[in-house]
Amino acid sequence: RAKELGGRRVEVFAAHMHADVVRRLELAADLQRALLEGQFAIEYQPVVDLATSRVTAVEALVRWWRGGEFVPPEQFLGPAEDTGLIVPLSEWILREACQEVAAWRDSSWDIGLSLNLSARQITAPRFVQTIEAALAESGLPPGALTLEVIEEMVVEDAEEIVTRLSELRALGVRLAIDDFGTGYASLAFLRQLPVDMIKIDPSFVSGLGRDETLTLLTRTIVRLGHDLGLIVVAEGIERPEQLDLLREMGCTRGQGYLVGRPMAPRGVDSLRPATASSLQGSV
Ligand code: C2E
Ligand code: MG
Ligand code: MG
Ligand code: MG
Repeated sequence: RAKELGGRRVEVFAAHMHADVVRRLELAADLQRALLEGQFAIEYQPVVDLATSRVTAVEALVRWWRGGEFVPPEQFLGPAEDTGLIVPLSEWILREACQEVAAWRDSSWDIGLSLNLSARQITAPRFVQTIEAALAESGLPPGALTLEVIEEMVVEDAEEIVTRLSELRALGVRLAIDDFGTGYASLAFLRQLPVDMIKIDPSFVSGLGRDETLTLLTRTIVRLGHDLGLIVVAEGIERPEQLDLLREMGCTRGQGYLVGRPMAPRGVDSLRPATASSLQGSV
């Protein structure tokens, strides 16, 4: 009897496994096709200087409409990383975004570009050369490009990743730690990598003015960043109260739905300094 029950349990388990494997294979095949058919798009979210309200940079965020249905990056970036498709996808984003931002730049608008990196992309062959080529082809100055990494990356494959990123830093490209404060290696990371910027995770910013501990932690991170000579960006600003507190703390830059939502490329032109004041009454 025990054997019978055990057998049934294995069957149920196998059926689950099967559905999961099929779903993942379908996703991988769809990702491959999406890449070939050009189904990916990039949205740009403004990063604003909190003292002047000027848009100093935009962060490129990948978008995928799978058969007309939006799939959040968090759902397909993992599978793209596992299958290796993240490498050609990231290269497309890199080239496309460098071209677009280079075209928006002119003598009156020194706008920069922030790109999110994946661990697999950094350890792929010719990573540094690929970035150099994208800069050369687009004409985007290295100093206008910021590469965002998360703490977890430097925990695995630490040495190779730190080496690659240091090579890029030597070219004049800027480095940022994204989602700062959520990893367990924040401070060790700052010692290992020659970073220019930290981006405070929204889990801190969300509590500004509402939660004493989170407000205190945010203030501490801003001060730490400044003491280390870093640019400090607060992410996930949604309420005016958060903006007021961050300004009072002297936080350098801000990003969030209140300041500007991710937008299609054609929307970015409206962020130019001349029209910036009419864009957002709240900023
Ligand atoms: P991230 O780099 O930390 O990007 C910020 C995320 O927060 C974006 O989500 C953005 O749309 C969202 N966001 C911005 N302001 C607000 C706000 O005020 N409130 C709330 N609730 N959310 C806000 P998204 O676009 O879904 O991207 C999620 C993550 O996926 C990114 O987090 C990044 O880690 C990754 N990602 C996005 N695009 C790329 C890419 O091109 N390459 C790689 N490797 N990763 C990417
Ligand atoms: Mg980011
Ligand atoms: Mg983040
Ligand atoms: Mg994130």
